[in-house]
Amino acid sequence: MSTELSPNPIRGLDLIGIPTDAGASRRGAGMGPEALRVAGLIETLTELGHDVRDLGDIRIAQRVDAHLRLPAARQTEVLALAARSSDMALASLQAGRLPVFLGGDHSISMGTIAGVARHCAAIGKPLFVLWVDAHGDFNTPLTSPTGNLHGMPLALLCGEPDFGPAYQGDWRGNVDPRNVTIFGARSIDRFERQLLETRGVDVMDMRRIDEMGAVALMRELIEKVQAIDGHLHVSFDADSLDPSIAPGTGTPVAGGLTYREAHLALEMLHDAGCIGSLDLVEVNPYLDQNGCTARLIVDLAASLFGRQIMPRRTGA
Ligand code: MG
Ligand code: MG
Repeated sequence: MSTELSPNPIRGLDLIGIPTDAGASRRGAGMGPEALRVAGLIETLTELGHDVRDLGDIRIAQRVDAHLRLPAARQTEVLALAARSSDMALASLQAGRLPVFLGGDHSISMGTIAGVARHCAAIGKPLFVLWVDAHGDFNTPLTSPTGNLHGMPLALLCGEPDFGPAYQGDWRGNVDPRNVTIFGARSIDRFERQLLETRGVDVMDMRRIDEMGAVALMRELIEKVQAIDGHLHVSFDADSLDPSIAPGTGTPVAGGLTYREAHLALEMLHDAGCIGSLDLVEVNPYLDQNGCTARLIVDLAASLFGRQIMPRRTGA
């Protein structure tokens, strides 16, 4: 592929690592930020002509009993990181840059999107979330079969009432579920399905992608965002991809996005120029095969930020 910058330039990119697996039952996603760096993320985005700043990793002062993996300690770590990442997201956007968060398990998105929501509220821009994932991540402490927080961030962000007072923070309820699109879903729990339907989340599951095609569905989303000049946050879970091309993730599910479906969706978002912030999560180097998942995520990020095979003469 060519690495030429497209005619649709994007402002400077801030890379921020959140090396945690406190929200997941399997360990290893905490090494995700480093794997993405080793796979060449900074060099790839810089080659595309972007001004890339690596702001390093967010770390909390003390990972309380994290080695014991006690649920309370894991929750403490998730919420402490959320507070920090929310502030980092806000600061990056206020500086006119585009934050790219490197997970970490998907619980990091409660903080990152909270910060994006604060920015959007301050400038009066509607926030849209594209959640690319095999899962809905819309469980609550009452509906979750596992209790793992990486299966709940979207429900918390959308204001589900089942979360206790410990979850109070600016991540709570600042996202309108009707502005959330889940893309690539194929593993949704029973109560989660009911909640997603009741709240009006648009779930573009694998069957819809099979029937309609990624292009038609992406166009639908892009039109919705552009119609009211929204800010689009993309939260990309590596398990959205088919495990045959992305084995390095903690909760793989068969029948996922193909290599071209994923690239095409992100290329279209780039061409539409409506990407405002990004999470790249659930890369687990411990489960990966020679870094192929990390390299694929880097390539997908390149598609989102302007890598093209040939210049396009028409928009998305
Ligand atoms: Mg997820
Ligand atoms: Mg997932």
